[in-house]
Amino acid sequence: MTPTDPGPREPRGIRYGGDYNPEQWPEQVWAEDVALMSEAGVDLVTVGVFAWAELQAAPGAELRAGWLDRVMELLAAAGIGVDLATATASPPPWLVRAHPEILPVTANGVSLSLGGRQHYCPSSPAYRDAAVELAGRMAGRYGGHPALELWHVGNEYGCHVPACYCEVSAAAFRRWLRERYGDDIDELNRAWGTAFWSQRYRDFDEVGPPRVAPTFPNPTQQLDFARFSDHELRACYLAEREVLRAATPEVPVTTNLMGLFRPTDGWAWAAEMDVVSLDRYPDPADSDSHVQAALVADLNRSLGSGRPWYLMEQAPGAVNWRPVNVPKNRGQFRAWSLQAVARGADAVLQFQWRASAAGAEKFHSGMVPHAGIDTRQWREVVALGAELAKLAPLAGTPVSAHVAILLDWESWWALELDSHPAGLRLPELLAELYQPLFDAGTTVDFAHPEADLGRYQLVVAPALYLVSDRAATNLTDYVGAGGTALVTYFSGIVDPDDHVRLGGYPAPWRDLLGLDVEEVSPLPPTTTVRLGGPLAHPGSAGRRWQELIRLRGAQVLLEIADGPLAGQPAATAHPHGRGSAYYLATTPDPVTLSALIAEIAARAGVPAGPSRPPGVEAVERGGHLVLINHSDTTVDTGVGDDPRSDLLSGSVVSHAVTLPPGGALVLAPPDRP
Ligand SMILES: [Zn+2]
Repeated sequence: MTPTDPGPREPRGIRYGGDYNPEQWPEQVWAEDVALMSEAGVDLVTVGVFAWAELQAAPGAELRAGWLDRVMELLAAAGIGVDLATATASPPPWLVRAHPEILPVTANGVSLSLGGRQHYCPSSPAYRDAAVELAGRMAGRYGGHPALELWHVGNEYGCHVPACYCEVSAAAFRRWLRERYGDDIDELNRAWGTAFWSQRYRDFDEVGPPRVAPTFPNPTQQLDFARFSDHELRACYLAEREVLRAATPEVPVTTNLMGLFRPTDGWAWAAEMDVVSLDRYPDPADSDSHVQAALVADLNRSLGSGRPWYLMEQAPGAVNWRPVNVPKNRGQFRAWSLQAVARGADAVLQFQWRASAAGAEKFHSGMVPHAGIDTRQWREVVALGAELAKLAPLAGTPVSAHVAILLDWESWWALELDSHPAGLRLPELLAELYQPLFDAGTTVDFAHPEADLGRYQLVVAPALYLVSDRAATNLTDYVGAGGTALVTYFSGIVDPDDHVRLGGYPAPWRDLLGLDVEEVSPLPPTTTVRLGGPLAHPGSAGRRWQELIRLRGAQVLLEIADGPLAGQPAATAHPHGRGSAYYLATTPDPVTLSALIAEIAARAGVPAGPSRPPGVEAVERGGHLVLINHSDTTVDTGVGDDPRSDLLSGSVVSHAVTLPPGGALVLAPPDRP
C-alpha cells in the first residue's frame, strides 16, 4: 500500500474550526457565524456533510446550490478555508422513493428505514451511481472555488451500517468470493473448512452472507464477509474520490476515520487518503479518557505513516449519544486539543460549529452553544483558538516513537468472532498495554505486522491471533536483527483462512519465544491467580488467561503461584539472534505489568521519558516538549535544566514548573550555545 501523494503542501499553522451546517439556520445567522468564526480564530470549516437533500431534489437534477454559493463566498471573504463534503453520507428521501432497494438489510433480514442517517447498502449500484453523480456535480461547481481546501468524501464510513445482508450484497459477495478463490468452489470449501457441519458447497450460487443461523455461522465465512464489507465501503469512497481527483487533482481528499473502529481496515483506508482524519469522542466520565484519546491519536498518526493528520471531529463539550452524556470538565477541551497537536495533528476541528436547535443531535455540544456567547463554552472556544495560533511552529513537524504496537484489522476481525476459548476484545487488550507506556512518557506508534519494524527498539504484539506467513517471518527477522518483541497470549494462533496453526501455540513463533503452549486456560471474569517469580511483588496477580507451557530455552520472569496451573510460566524471556523475545501468558495487575514493561523497555534500550508526576502527559513533537496536566490536582513538574520558552504563555521556564489541573506547557527546543 503506497500512500497517495498530491505533492508537498505548506503547513498553514494549526487549523481550527468545525463542521458548519448553515442549512440548519436562516440566512441572517450566517453573517454572525462568520464574524464569530473570525473572533474565535476559526480558519477551516467542514461544509455540507449531510446536505444532499438540500442540494438536489431529483435523480440527476442540477444542484440547488444558490445557498451554498453564498456560504462559500462569505467564508472565502473572511479567509476561512472549506473542507467541502461530497454530501453523499445520507441519501435523500427522493432517492429512497425512487430506489427502495438502496436501504440496507441486517443479518436477521430487517430492512432499515429512512429517517435516521447513512441508510444505504454499500453494494447498491443505485446508491453508488447517485453518489458519484453528486460528487461530480460538487467538483464541477466548486472545484475552482478560492475557499476550497480539502474534499471530504462521505462521513464515518461503516458507522451504523458496517455491512449489508440484502440480495444485492449477497450477489456482490459471491462475485467477490469467485475472485478471491479463483472461481474454484473447492478452494472456498477448503478455506472455509466446510467438511465440518455438512457445509460443502457445490456452486457459488449456494453461498450467501453469514445471516442469522441456528448457531454460529462458519467462522471463515464471517471473516471473508468482514473483508468483503470493508472492501465495499471503500469502493464507495474510491468511486467518489476518482471523480474528485479527475476534476481537481491538486485538491487533497479525506474522509473521517473513527480510530479503533473494527469494521473498516484503517491501514487500507489511510493508504487512499491525502490527509488522514479522525473523529475522536472519548467519554469525559472515564478516568482514563485522556489515555484512550492519546491511543487513537497515535493510531491515526501511524495509519498515515507519520504524516500530520487532522482531528476532524471532537465535541467541545458533551455528546448526545451515550446513556449519560457528561460534558468535558473545565479545561478538558483545551487539554485534549493540545494533546492531539502534540501527537501530530495539524488541525483541531469540532462537531459542530453551532449547536443545533432541532434534529437528533440537538443536545450535542457546539462551539456556539444554545445559551449563546456569554458562556463558559464560548470563552473556552475563543481561548483555544488564540492558543492554537501560537503553535504554528509545530505544524508539519513529525512525532517519533521508539515503540510500536502491532495492529492488523484482519486479525481483529478474526479474534472477535464467536466460539473461541474466551471473548477477548482487542481494544481492551491494546489499552492495557498502552497505559504503562503512556504513563512512562514513551510515545508509541502502531504498525502493521508486515511493515518494516527496523526503526523500533520494542515491538508489542497484543493478541495478534491471525498472522500471515509474511507477518510471522517479519517479526522473527526483526528480533533476529537485534529488535525486542513482546508477544502476548492468543497470538499466532491461526493463518489468514482462520485455520489453526498446529503443533503447539504460537506455532510460527515457538522457536522465537523458546516455548510451546500446550493448552490455553482462560479465567472467569472475577477469578485471579497469584503471580510469583523474579519480577513479581507481594501483591502480583494475573487475570483473564493462563496457559500450560513447555519451556524450550525461555527464562521465566513471572509464574503462576496458585491454582491448577501453579508453577506454569506467566511471562518469559528468550534470546533470538541479536535480539530478545518476551512472552506474556496472562494479564498481570497494572503495577506488575508496568514493572514488566519498564524492565523490557529498559533492556531494549527505549529511552526513558521525562520524569513527571502521575497524570502529567509528556510528548515530544518536532523538538517541542508538550506537558499536559490531566489530573485534578495542581502539581510541580520538572522541565529540565535548560531554559526553554513556553509557546503558550510566552515565558521562559527551567527546572520545575507548577501546573494547575488542565494546565499545559509547549516548550520550544532549548537554545544551545
Ligand atoms: Zn445490500
